[in-house]
Amino acid sequence: MKRIAIVGGGIAGLSAAFTLEKQRLSGVAVEYTLFESSSRFGGVLATEEVDGCQIEAGPDSFLTEKPWASDFCRELGIGEQLVASNDADRKTYIVVRGRLIAIPDGLMFMVPTKVLPTVFSPLFSLRTKLRMAREWFHPPRKAQADETVASLVERHYGTEMVDRLADPLLSGVYGGGASELSVRAALARFAEMEAKYGSLGRGMLAAHRKMGRSTKAARPPLFTALTGGMQAIADTAVSQLTASALRPNSLVQSVQPQTNGWVVSAGYASDHFDAVIIATPAHIAADLVEIASSALASELRSVQYTSSITVNLGYAGNVRQMLPPGFGFLIPRSEGTRMMATTFVHTKFPHRAPLDRALLRCFIGGARNEALLDAPDDQILTIVCGELAQIIGLRAQPLFTRVYRWRRAMAQYPVGHLDRLLRIDALLQQLPGLALAGNGYRGIGVPDCIRTGDEAAKKCLAALGLATGTRESMSPAM
Ligand SMILES: Cc1cc2nc3c(=O)[nH]c(=O)nc-3n(C[C@H](O)[C@H](O)[C@H](O)COP(=O)(O)OP(=O)(O)OC[C@H]3O[C@@H](n4cnc5c(N)ncnc54)[C@H](O)[C@@H]3O)c2cc1C
Repeated sequence: MKRIAIVGGGIAGLSAAFTLEKQRLSGVAVEYTLFESSSRFGGVLATEEVDGCQIEAGPDSFLTEKPWASDFCRELGIGEQLVASNDADRKTYIVVRGRLIAIPDGLMFMVPTKVLPTVFSPLFSLRTKLRMAREWFHPPRKAQADETVASLVERHYGTEMVDRLADPLLSGVYGGGASELSVRAALARFAEMEAKYGSLGRGMLAAHRKMGRSTKAARPPLFTALTGGMQAIADTAVSQLTASALRPNSLVQSVQPQTNGWVVSAGYASDHFDAVIIATPAHIAADLVEIASSALASELRSVQYTSSITVNLGYAGNVRQMLPPGFGFLIPRSEGTRMMATTFVHTKFPHRAPLDRALLRCFIGGARNEALLDAPDDQILTIVCGELAQIIGLRAQPLFTRVYRWRRAMAQYPVGHLDRLLRIDALLQQLPGLALAGNGYRGIGVPDCIRTGDEAAKKCLAALGLATGTRESMSPAM
């Protein structure tokens, strides 16, 4: 019987455990132990029920186009809980000089694919509109060194597009802005489109047509969530794992190689395993492997993380009529606010609030707001409510509030991240039986974390000679 330890019971660790559980049930001679430092599993996936509203403390949904989360839910038997974002009412605004301006129809991420709505949109100056027209004739560009998202977007559409769209859109996902993130790591598709088509607009339209032709189905929703809340994914996974394999309240201090395996130390106990999956944020993984490989620890430590705060505000139902229609708004850095985005939750996911309630979720994050993490709730609420009053004129008193702080939870992928991953892969080759999973490496969203957990489990099974039909998508060393 081979034994595999998983350190970290967030969604990546749970996904790894689930893959191992399935193998165990199918007769593979493997058992596993899942160490989680806190009392609950799920990591940043956390759902709370307040006053009839479903509050998401961490991620509120996932991108539908990345299949691994929906597939995982179906495997867990909760496929019927998958719920689409209410895209019929999807409209997102950008705050420009204190005013809300709708993102025009046909803008895919930040690439215009429809002429008229963009031409008539007040979101962009005439200068940017002219650049958009010229962009259509951009010649293909040979693959060059990696660059920031800001630099690629600026080359195609100018700085206004970076400030008004690229930056706020990316800040909502990574907590970091376009001038920090690597195109190849965060938006590889854009680099590929530029190399093939030159124009991102033409590239996006081609991809769109191809998708339309191949599926012939109704357009899938942009976001997917669960009727039972995001935490339902974690809770259901936990309920299907072997109970005796679960170790909550177990902070792992080190993971050290030994002859024929690894020793995992948690509290006063040490246990021997044949392989180990570390599914914590990379900066914690760094501390765990310091003794095993200081070179690997140093690479892992250099993966930067930002913190974030989500603020949920529940109001009486009449507040719905005071809000502009749509999913909410994003705020460019240049506006100088602390908030980066607000979602009108009751519109985006109507099941999350009864009709007599309005539910707002505000997002504060990134390096510029790090100091706020230590501020008391009252101070954070004063800032958020003040900015809501200033931007959308909302002065109603919330009936309830919830503030959640996530310290160093969102990985950043700056230029050079992919090279770092190659160095990490090379160092892992020297440490057989060790695998990494989670948001520090090849995708920050919930679907990617689920995928990396599955891949790490399969990598360990293969290393132990228990391979069971490795997926083609599996990366060699993660
Ligand atoms: C506020 C917020 C909003 C987000 N919104 C979205 C979204 O809408 N859609 C989306 O797709 N993604 C979103 N993300 C990103 C996504 O949710 C995360 O990247 C992903 O869930 C991370 O999962 P993980 O398992 O890698 O890490 P985590 O969830 O961080 O789990 C790591 C686990 O390891 C445990 N641990 C740490 N140290 C130790 C130790 N020494 N010993 C044992 N256990 C340890 C921790 O307690 C934790 O449970 C969001 C993230 C945040 C923070």
